[in-house]
Amino acid sequence: MMAQFLEIKAEYPNALLFYRMGDFYEMFFDDAVMAAQALDIALTKRGKHQGQDIPMCGVPVHAAENYLLTLIRKGFRVGVCEQLEDPAEAKKRGSKSVVKRGVVRLVTPGTLTEDSLLDARQHNFLCAFASIRDSAALAWVDVSTGDFHVQSCPTVGLSPLLARLAPREVLVGDSPDNWLRDTIEETGAAVTELARASFDSTAAGDRLTGLFGVKSLDAFGNFARVELAAMGAIVDYLHITQKGKLPLLKPPVAEATDTSMRIDAATRRNLELTRTISGDRTGALLSVIDKTITGSGARLLETRLNNPSRHLGTVRGRLDAVSFFVDNQQVKNDLRETLRKTPDMDRALTRLSLERAGPRDIAAIRDGLTSAQAIFDLIGAHDLPDLVADARQALAGHGNLIGFLNERLVEEPPLLARDGGFTASGYRADLDEARTLRDEGRKVILGLQKDYAELAGVTALKIKHNNVLGYFIETPATHAPKMLAAPLSDTFIHRQTTANAVRFTTLELSELETKILNAGGRALEIEREVYSELSEQIVSQGAEIGQAAKSIAELDLQAALAELALSEDWTRPAVSDDRRFKITAGRHPVVDAALRKQASGSFVANDCDLSDAQDSKRLWLLTGPNMAGKSTFLRQNALIAVLAQMGSYVPADQAEIGLVSQLFSRVGASDDLARGRSTFMVEMVETAAILNQADQNALVILDEIGRGTATYDGLSIAWATLEHLHEGNKCRALFATHYHELTQLSSKLDHLMNATIAVREWEGDIIFLHEVRQGAADRSYGVQVAQLAGLPASVVERARVVLEALEKGDREDGNKAKTLFEDLPLFAVKPQAPPQPVKQSKVEEILGEVLPDDLSPKEALSLVYQLKETL
Ligand code: ADP
Repeated sequence: MMAQFLEIKAEYPNALLFYRMGDFYEMFFDDAVMAAQALDIALTKRGKHQGQDIPMCGVPVHAAENYLLTLIRKGFRVGVCEQLEDPAEAKKRGSKSVVKRGVVRLVTPGTLTEDSLLDARQHNFLCAFASIRDSAALAWVDVSTGDFHVQSCPTVGLSPLLARLAPREVLVGDSPDNWLRDTIEETGAAVTELARASFDSTAAGDRLTGLFGVKSLDAFGNFARVELAAMGAIVDYLHITQKGKLPLLKPPVAEATDTSMRIDAATRRNLELTRTISGDRTGALLSVIDKTITGSGARLLETRLNNPSRHLGTVRGRLDAVSFFVDNQQVKNDLRETLRKTPDMDRALTRLSLERAGPRDIAAIRDGLTSAQAIFDLIGAHDLPDLVADARQALAGHGNLIGFLNERLVEEPPLLARDGGFTASGYRADLDEARTLRDEGRKVILGLQKDYAELAGVTALKIKHNNVLGYFIETPATHAPKMLAAPLSDTFIHRQTTANAVRFTTLELSELETKILNAGGRALEIEREVYSELSEQIVSQGAEIGQAAKSIAELDLQAALAELALSEDWTRPAVSDDRRFKITAGRHPVVDAALRKQASGSFVANDCDLSDAQDSKRLWLLTGPNMAGKSTFLRQNALIAVLAQMGSYVPADQAEIGLVSQLFSRVGASDDLARGRSTFMVEMVETAAILNQADQNALVILDEIGRGTATYDGLSIAWATLEHLHEGNKCRALFATHYHELTQLSSKLDHLMNATIAVREWEGDIIFLHEVRQGAADRSYGVQVAQLAGLPASVVERARVVLEALEKGDREDGNKAKTLFEDLPLFAVKPQAPPQPVKQSKVEEILGEVLPDDLSPKEALSLVYQLKETL
């Protein structure tokens, strides 16, 4: 057995081998050591290899999924090695013969299909990156749903694309360049190296045409060689990991590079689209806007949010669909009610195609299609926007398959096909007959038990069943002498004695057992046939089912966005192909929702107009104290653009948005210690990227750029950046700064407007009004904010003095440093006041000098007289 293990293991040096032994998966050698530690399970030994103990650990098969999940999360890959024949077969070949085993599947982060290993509301992408000379492409697939895409991308475009997809695993050719490895690892995905041959574009063409059963791939669009190479690598990897069984992939979709808003990784992080900066899902935009009901709807929402469109027709089409549900609330409500009963067909379908499914997956298809039909009916055919009409179309016409499944499958089937019980009665006469025999046999056994109890005069006599003995009669051990003696021993044949019981059989019971077993075995055999019939029928209609599932996701999403628009009182944005950007009474969706939830004040809505026209102001310079709401205002406008272009209503009273091509968001002084770059360096690298890349249709928000360095350096950099945005990039931009000096630039730059967030000063405190107005902030109120934050009063007081001196120096000769050092006395933490001498009374004075231990009783008495006198 060890020889077999080592032979198989040699083929999978980079994976842990789950070696099936009976009811356990066992791991040996280093695999065992690593797995025991990762899973926190006991490490034991089994036998010896070359004189050394063999470390071993194991997990029970029935609980294997959980352990797999932990291992995959911790970055392992696992080869699942099963017994490929019945152990009885092996025995027939000879007593020393080992059961045939082989790896049936390589489990990797990017190729999961089990519900328990997946997040129902999130895609699980596997990517492949290919490059041929100067061109490069990324292909990606969600194995659990079959979605398959490819996009050519210049190498600079890789990072934003990976940021958008957030894949779990990325395939690359062997020995990838460092930058490639770094770029991928930065997204948190596992890097898997494949042989160059997997990326061969000619072989890829053959693999793909073979997979989709077409002569040429032209039917799906024109693919560049490098795109073929990337897709081919994915298909090859699936062959390797799924051991030849391929999931039902949908035909590949080539994504054009310029159809979606470009948002790089830093911007995504910063805007907290799907996760907050600290990595949580709650508190991110997605968690606030997600009203979808189905898993597939939720995945589509995440995809759209990560990938807002910049195609006018697409955005308008989606908004029309949302408007339809806003206007037809009854339809929306009925639809959502039906969706609650709609299972995830995509993932069930994939498991069926990989022969990894159970009867419940078949039921999922049946119930999903039944819902599809119900949705088709409830939407009705009149005046539908295109998107809704198209989706509705794909929902009909599954009547035959539903009928087929209904006829064969019980209402609520069991989890596993293994034990049968999922086939409806009345479908096959031979099955019904076998089942009746089996069940009646069981009834007869109950009767026998009664008879035997009477015969033996043992009321505690039971007929039981286990896998080793089959059916047997059991009596408590105390009855053993009676049972083992004549006349009872004529009927009861002794089989086993345990600590508490004695077990018997009878001729009648064995005969009955054979009958039951035969009938049960026959029933199982028939059910196995039914199962393949069901599964084959479904897989053969996979494409149509996939279409229906896709339509359900689309309708769920549009209805959910309508629900959101209505519950939050959002408005439909007017999108156009120009460079407008006019938001009236805009709100930050997340901050607004949070304020309402805590009931701590309400959100102050603000306007923003960056529209690019003759003498308009497309660049706003925002000043105002910390905590006034600058970042919130900046982000809310960026989020409104994202929401509008993903096809959602937006948190504003009115919004006119000229499609944004690229969105950039940078925040000064965000730490990136993980990457080992200094804060300031990160900020500058990111700012450089914007200035080099932003085109006229971009939207840029910059928050406190230049903060991470000395004042004058920072001011100069912010100054030059602002000028470049204005003169060079000419894009719409919001620029928040604490350098008030910059506000003077508005007199020189035509399209620059100063804006500030109003605060009111009241008895030395400040009150934040959160209102954005035209104009510059008069001061920064930093000292007041510091006071609010609880800085010690002495420090606040000292800061006021320094500030006053600085401002005075600034006014008089402009040389702050000189004034500061020459005029200000050195700062001293005011020492604690020394204890003031308190005026003492005569009594205290006298007592202060007394040493009680030295007093004799007489002296004490005279002391009392003395004290009394002083009163
Ligand atoms: P700044 O960037 O100016 O330091 P922030 O944007 O971080 O300020 O806002 C500080 C806090 O003020 C936020 O956490 C939020 O709770 C509140 N706030 C910001 N804008 C508004 C607004 N428009 N209405 C109500 N509260 C707001």
